[in-house]
Amino acid sequence: MSFDKLNLNKALISSLDDLGYVEPTPIQEKAFPIIMSGKDVIGIAQTGTGKTFAYLLPILRNLKYSDQRHPRVLIIVPTRELVLQIVKEIEKLSTYTSLRFLAVYGGTNINTQKQLVYNGVDIIVATPGRLVDLSLTGILRLKDIKQLVIDEFDQMLSLGFRQQLLSFLETIPNKRQNLMFSATMNTEIEAVIAKYFYEPLKIEITPHGTPIEKIIQLCYHVPNFNTKVNLLEHLLKTDDTLNKVLVFTSTKKLADNLFDAMKLRFPDEVVVIHSNLAQTARINSLKQFHEGTKRVLIATDIVARGLDISDVTHVINFDTPDTPEDYIHRIGRTGRANKAGTAITFINETEQVCQVAIETMMNKAIPYESLPEEVVISKVLTDDEIPKMIDKIKQKKGKDTYVPGPAFHEKKLKNQKVNLGGPGRKEKLKGKDAKIRTYRRN
Ligand code: ADP
Ligand code: MG
Repeated sequence: MSFDKLNLNKALISSLDDLGYVEPTPIQEKAFPIIMSGKDVIGIAQTGTGKTFAYLLPILRNLKYSDQRHPRVLIIVPTRELVLQIVKEIEKLSTYTSLRFLAVYGGTNINTQKQLVYNGVDIIVATPGRLVDLSLTGILRLKDIKQLVIDEFDQMLSLGFRQQLLSFLETIPNKRQNLMFSATMNTEIEAVIAKYFYEPLKIEITPHGTPIEKIIQLCYHVPNFNTKVNLLEHLLKTDDTLNKVLVFTSTKKLADNLFDAMKLRFPDEVVVIHSNLAQTARINSLKQFHEGTKRVLIATDIVARGLDISDVTHVINFDTPDTPEDYIHRIGRTGRANKAGTAITFINETEQVCQVAIETMMNKAIPYESLPEEVVISKVLTDDEIPKMIDKIKQKKGKDTYVPGPAFHEKKLKNQKVNLGGPGRKEKLKGKDAKIRTYRRN
């Protein structure tokens, strides 16, 4: 199968030639004719399998030259960095056209964006907040939107974006084509789709939540923050295959604390990114990591979705993510476009419930390895860990309270050998409520 079968035009074929892409990925191949036919589409395919071009190719194929001012295509994504990435992808595909496109996102001067919108634009790529702000000024008019893409749509319906997105959907023209893409789905989405989509076709290349097979997954059971720092230091010092390492933490505070700890140990090798940093700092950190001048990027989940950073060798979950879906997206920053990658997760006792939820969704156990002997097990808890310990002790005393998993010391014994997900583990998984998909952090 080559791109020839897709009924592309010369401009697109030339751009793909320049990129050196020879054949469409499965989602690109399947989505193209359906999107061209005008149907609403829900596209589910694994991380790093080319979903961006799956919607961009047919959209750009359709878009005729026009000098009208108001945009005809709107692409909504959850983060500013993803806006910039998608605009770059459009740029790559539109070298041989005169298409006008614009990135719209917060943390930048709105007046500059107003002027650019006023000059006229065909495609807008936006984060929801700035999009609403711009349309409230009256300068951005969405009455001519014919195609709407919501990339990472399950994330866009999560708390924080939901209200904004739904009220926004009420205000744009009904007669439009809706396209949604992600590697994961959630049950809430069905209702939204039923209300806002017209007879959508679901293209599912692999079941939702399937991780890329090429990503080697493993985990360590590590009791606390300070020991996790020791383990991370050990891995970075002893394993030189860890040369482009993305380390995730669930909160900005933890990201900052970890950054401080790692900066002491690896002064010139580490950068950090989270949403409290200025936009220029965010872009700089990402750029330095992307270009390989910094070996380690410590990040919150703002980087977990959609970002295509080339050749990330390792994703390290310094803590377990908030939902199993986030796990899939985090680890999906490596192993992209058929490359190999490794994902290592550090799990403390309270996080074991998260591990079960992740394994249930993947229908696969994460093999675990025992802590290397050289790693010092710290008994010093951080200020944040102390109240959690107290809660846990209280929880264990209460009879009605659910205490996840077997006791940690039992697990530790099992840790003596690598568990590759033999029958014992599978049995255990089957016994869990298969519907556990999200959980609260302890
Ligand atoms: P997804 O959205 O599924 O996570 P992306 O659209 O970000 O994946 O694409 C992942 C990587 O694969 C990008 O670097 C992209 O340029 C590359 N890519 C996309 N389509 C092809 C193709 N047909 N052949 C080779 N590489 C591709
Ligand atoms: Mg994507």
